[in-house]
Amino acid sequence: MDFQVSARKWRPQKFGELIGQEHIVRTLTNAIKFDRVSHAYLFSGTRGVGKTTTARILAKAINCESGPATEPCDQCSFCNEIKSGNCIDVREIDGASNNGVAEVRDLIETIQYAASACRYKIYIIDEVHMLSRSAFNALLKTLEEPPPNVVFIFATTELSKIPETILSRCQCFEFKPLSHKQIVQQLELICEQENIQADGLSLEEIAKTGTGSMRDAQSLLDQVIAYCGKTVGAGSVEEVLGIVGRQTLETFIDHLIQRDGAGLIEQIQKIATEGKDLNFFCRDLAEYLRHLLMVKLSDKPERILDAHICNLEILQKQAEAFHADELQQMFTVLARTESEMKRSPMAQMVFEMSVLRLVDVRPFQKIDEMIQKVNAMERDNKSSAGSIAESPNPVSETLPASPAGLSSLGNPVDSSFDWDRICQEICGRKPMFDHYLSQCKVLSFNESGLSLGFADPVTLERIQDPENIQVVIDAVKTVCGREMKVELFLNENKNPQASGADTNSDKKKVMMHRNESRQKTEAEIIQDALDVFGGVVIR
Ligand SMILES: [Zn+2]
Repeated sequence: MDFQVSARKWRPQKFGELIGQEHIVRTLTNAIKFDRVSHAYLFSGTRGVGKTTTARILAKAINCESGPATEPCDQCSFCNEIKSGNCIDVREIDGASNNGVAEVRDLIETIQYAASACRYKIYIIDEVHMLSRSAFNALLKTLEEPPPNVVFIFATTELSKIPETILSRCQCFEFKPLSHKQIVQQLELICEQENIQADGLSLEEIAKTGTGSMRDAQSLLDQVIAYCGKTVGAGSVEEVLGIVGRQTLETFIDHLIQRDGAGLIEQIQKIATEGKDLNFFCRDLAEYLRHLLMVKLSDKPERILDAHICNLEILQKQAEAFHADELQQMFTVLARTESEMKRSPMAQMVFEMSVLRLVDVRPFQKIDEMIQKVNAMERDNKSSAGSIAESPNPVSETLPASPAGLSSLGNPVDSSFDWDRICQEICGRKPMFDHYLSQCKVLSFNESGLSLGFADPVTLERIQDPENIQVVIDAVKTVCGREMKVELFLNENKNPQASGADTNSDKKKVMMHRNESRQKTEAEIIQDALDVFGGVVIR
C-alpha cells in the first residue's frame, strides 16, 4: 500500500493551513507585513500542535523568493529547500542532542557570517529546554546583540525550564492543544482525500487517543489504515490501538457502583490479558467519570457531551448512584494514577490499587451537618461529665480485687499514666497476659490508681489470681515509679440490661478502650478523619 505517513504528507505548508493557532498566525503575518520580524521567537506548547511546522512556514515566508510575504509561495527553490530541510541558511537543531556549550559556540561562530543565499539566516532550535545552563549563557550574548538578518526560533514543550533571561529576549507564543473537534475534522479530511471509508466513531476514538496532538492522531490513523486497509470499521480502532470499547467502561462503572472490588480487579486482568493498554483505559475511565459528572450537573448534557460517543441513557442511570463530589474525588485519583502508571514498572498494580481506592470513595459531608454533629457530641460529653460528678462511684459492680489495694506511698509520679507501656511491661513478664489485656478496658488511670474493666468473668478471675495481680502491680510500679492502687471490675458492657440503665450508660462513657489511651497512629487519625468527613486518601 502506497500510503505515506499522514503526519508528514499532511503537514501544513502555509499559514492558512495551520489548524487551531489562529492567534499566532495573525501576529506573525502582521509582523511580516509591517516589516517587524523579531530576531528571536519562542514557541511553546504540547507535542504535535504545530510549533516546528509554524517555524518552517515562517522561515519560508521571510525567505521566499517572492517574499517576504504573509504566505510563502511554496514553489520557489528556497521554499522547496526549506521544506526538504536542505536550505543552507535555515538550520534546524535538535536541542536534545546538541545541548552542550561547545555546540552552541559552534553555532554562534556561523552566525557571524551573512546568509549565503537567503534574506535571513534562521536557526530553529527544537526542544530548546534541553540546552545546558552554560549553553543558554553562551546563547544569551548573541540574543542581546543579534547580528542583522538572523532569526532564532526556539520551540519547547516545557516553557517552565527556559531561563527568564532567555524568555525576556524572545517574543513568546503559546500554542494551544488542538480541540477534539479540530482533530476529528482533519482526520475526516484526510480520509476523504485518501479515499478511505472510516466511520465517525472510529475517528472520534482516534482523536481521543491522540489527546490534543494532531501528529499523534495522524500517526494513529496510519496504524489503523495499515491494519484495516481502505475501510476502517467499527471495533477495528479498539483492536489496533489497544483501547477498550464503551461497553467495557459501562460494565466497569457498574462494578464500581456495586463497590465490587473483586469484580473490578477481574475486569482489569481481563483487559490486560487481551493486550489492551491500561494507560488508555485509565484515561478513558477518567473521561467516563467526567461524562457522569456532566450528566449529573446539566439538564441538557447532550450540549456538552457528544451523543455520538456516549450513551446518555446509561450515563444518566449510572450517574444517579454517585454524588457529584464522589465523581470528582475519583477523577482526581485516576488523573494522578495515569501519570504514576507512566513512571512505574508495575503499571497494572498501580492501577489496581487506585481502582480499589475508588471503591472506598465516600461523599463529603456538608459542613452544616458536620457542625450539628460536633455540637451534639459536645452536649453528650457535657451531660456525661455532669453525671459522673454527681455519682462518685459510677461503676456499680465494683469488685475490688487487688490484694494490695495500696494507696500512694508518697513518691512523686515521675512517669505519665502510660497504659501501653504498662501492657508491654506486663507482657514482658507474662506473655499470656497479651490475650487477657486485649479483653480489658481502662476505666480510669490517674493519681488515685488504675481501674480496669473486664467483660468476661473468667478472664477477670484469672487476673485476680494473687500471683497474676502482683505482676500487674509490679508493672505499674515500674512504669509509674511508685506503688499504686489497682482495681479490677466486671464491666457489663456486653450486657447492658443486667444493671440499671442509667448508671450503665454513664459507665460506657467513662470506659476507655486501652487502644485509645495511647497516642493514635497517623493511619488511625486519617481513618478517623475519613469516617467523619468521608473522602478517600489519594496518596
Ligand atoms: Zn517561495
